[in-house]
Amino acid sequence: LAKRSGRNSFRFYSKDLTASAEERMRLESDLRRAIERGELELHYQPKVLLDSGAMVGCEALLRWRHPEMGMIPPVRFIPVAEDTGLIVELGRWVLHEACQTAAELNADSRSPHKVAINLSVKQFQSAGLVKSIAQIIDETGCRAEWVEIEITESLLLDQKDETLQALSELRSMGFSIAIDDFGTGYSALNYLARFPIDTLKIDRSFINSTDRRNEELVKAILSIARCLGQSVVAEGVETAEQAAFLVANGCGTAQGFLYSKAVPKADIIALWLRSPESGANLEEMRFCG
Ligand code: C2E
Ligand code: MG
Ligand code: MG
Ligand code: MG
Repeated sequence: LAKRSGRNSFRFYSKDLTASAEERMRLESDLRRAIERGELELHYQPKVLLDSGAMVGCEALLRWRHPEMGMIPPVRFIPVAEDTGLIVELGRWVLHEACQTAAELNADSRSPHKVAINLSVKQFQSAGLVKSIAQIIDETGCRAEWVEIEITESLLLDQKDETLQALSELRSMGFSIAIDDFGTGYSALNYLARFPIDTLKIDRSFINSTDRRNEELVKAILSIARCLGQSVVAEGVETAEQAAFLVANGCGTAQGFLYSKAVPKADIIALWLRSPESGANLEEMRFCG
C-alpha cells in the first residue's frame, strides 16, 4: 500500500512537471510563429514630469495576443524567448516597431518625445546588434535622440568587452541609456562611475513599499543620481502620496498606473497630439483602464 501511494504521489508530481514543460514547449513553438501571424503588439506607457504632470515620453512594452490562450504577459514569454534565442528576432521586431512610433510621435517639431525600449542581455550578446539598430533607425526615419535604451544591471556586470563596446557605440550614436529596475540586481555601483548612464529607473518595489527603509533607499538613489548628473524615473507610481513623496525629494519623472497604464500606439499618439506644447497633462486627460 505504501508503495502504491508513493507511486501515486510520484505520478502526481511528475504530471505537474510535465504540464509546465509542455506549456513551455507550446509557448516556444507558438512564439516562433507569433511575429509572422501578427500576434505581437507594442503598447506604450507614458512618462510624466512629476511636478507638472506633463508627458515627456513613453516606454514600449510588448504584448502577445495568443489566439487560444489570450493575452500572455511578458514575464511569461520573455524568459522563454531568451532561453531559446528567439529574443533576438523578437527584439528586432520591437525595435523596428518602437522606432517607427518614435518617428511618428516626433513628426512635428515640438519638444522631443522619447520612446524607451527594453533590450535583453541576450540581444547584446548576439552579433551585429549595433549594426541592426543603425539599419532600423535608417529604415524608420527615427533619430537616436528620440530613443532611450533600457538595460538591466546584469548587463553591466557582464564584463564582456563586446557588451560595453556595443553600449558605448550606441551612446555615441546619440541613444540615451537607462538602467531598468535599479536596485534589484546585484548593485553594480562601480559601473555607474565607469560607464556613462543617463537615467536610473527606480524599481517599483521601492516605490510601492510601506517600509520606511525603502523610502530612505529611494532618497539615497536620488542622491546618487544627482551627484552623477543622471536623471531618475520612478517606476510603478500608483498613489498621489507616492508622487508627493517623490516630488518632495526631487525626483523628476514618473511612470505608473496613477498616470496611465500602457496603451496601444493609436492612443499614445492621440494623447501626445492633444497635449499642449509643454506636454500632456495626464491629470486632465487620463487614459486609465
Ligand atoms: P519593465 O521594463 O520594468 O516594465 C515595467 C512594468 O511595470 C510593465 O510590466 C508595466 O506595465 C508595469 N507597470 C507600470 N506601472 C505600474 C504600476 O503603477 N503598478 C504596477 N503594478 N505595475 C506597473 P509589463 O508590461 O508586464 O512588462 C514586464 C517586464 O517585461 C518589463 O519590465 C520588461 O522587463 C519586460 N519586457 C516588456 N517588454 C519587453 C520588450 O519589448 N523586450 C524585453 N527584452 N523585455 C520586455
Ligand atoms: Mg523597462
Ligand atoms: Mg522596470
Ligand atoms: Mg520591472
